[in-house]
Amino acid sequence: MPFPLSAPTFVQKYVYPLYQRSVESARYDKSAQKWVVTTQNNVSGFVEEYVSEFLVVVTGENSEGFIPNVYGLDTFKGLVIHSSEYENGKTFGDKDVLVVGAGNSGMEIAYDLCNWGAQTSVVVRSPIHVLNKELVQLGMYFLKYIRCTFVDKMVLMLSKLLYGDLGRFGIQRPLKGRFLLKKETGRSLVIDVGTISVKTGDIKVNIVITSLIPVRWTGYANVTNKDNIY
Ligand SMILES: Cc1cc2nc3c(=O)[nH]c(=O)nc-3n(C[C@H](O)[C@H](O)[C@H](O)COP(=O)(O)OP(=O)(O)OC[C@H]3O[C@@H](n4cnc5c(N)ncnc54)[C@H](O)[C@@H]3O)c2cc1C
Repeated sequence: MPFPLSAPTFVQKYVYPLYQRSVESARYDKSAQKWVVTTQNNVSGFVEEYVSEFLVVVTGENSEGFIPNVYGLDTFKGLVIHSSEYENGKTFGDKDVLVVGAGNSGMEIAYDLCNWGAQTSVVVRSPIHVLNKELVQLGMYFLKYIRCTFVDKMVLMLSKLLYGDLGRFGIQRPLKGRFLLKKETGRSLVIDVGTISVKTGDIKVNIVITSLIPVRWTGYANVTNKDNIY
């Protein structure tokens, strides 16, 4: 839905954000016809209640961190962290690092690790679309005028010109086009920040991990198998 012409370009000054609060619950009070939102104040520790006529939920789609239960993970002696805890590759410079997952977080982390000199491998389990920001922008512009399937074909052709065949690095593309996939499933594409265009030769790509077998106290052996997906 487009913004009305009367909408201001920037958020008005009379919006006062309330920081350090975590929403615990929200319920609609039918008799009062109001939303009642309960929050935990992370500074004072108090529970607060806010009442409003409208409620807009913008808590994002990737808020909950998740580490899958990979066999051998509990006995692995190296450091295991979720991407949300990653700050930068400073302390990983001389290490072998396996990045599990090739979404935006995984690809950006792999790129950063590589820049810090880490021996980086990335697990790409499923086919992914990778485009740079310019191609995404171009596609989004043409979506206003051309059918989604045509835009997908055009963007695919341009990305092939840009990256060549990513299959040579073990990266496969989904059968459905980038924009159709987003429309039908909500799945996002990977925005290339340099992982593909700059570092593909330096970063090893694995298909899937099924287990981790410790080989020395800081290392791992990565067992890959195309048919087993955890
Ligand atoms: C590594 C990475 C790189 C990306 N790169 C790009 C890019 O280059 N370009 C691009 O367009 N998009 C990029 N994206 C996607 C983009 O970040 C998201 O699409 C965008 O941030 C979504 O915005 P949002 O406001 O919906 O959610 P978010 O940015 O996720 O914001 C949700 C907010 O809600 C808060 N929240 C959640 N639960 C509660 C609660 N109970 N109480 C209070 N607060 C809560 C969270 O703390 C968070 O601040 C990237 C994503 C990732 C992970």
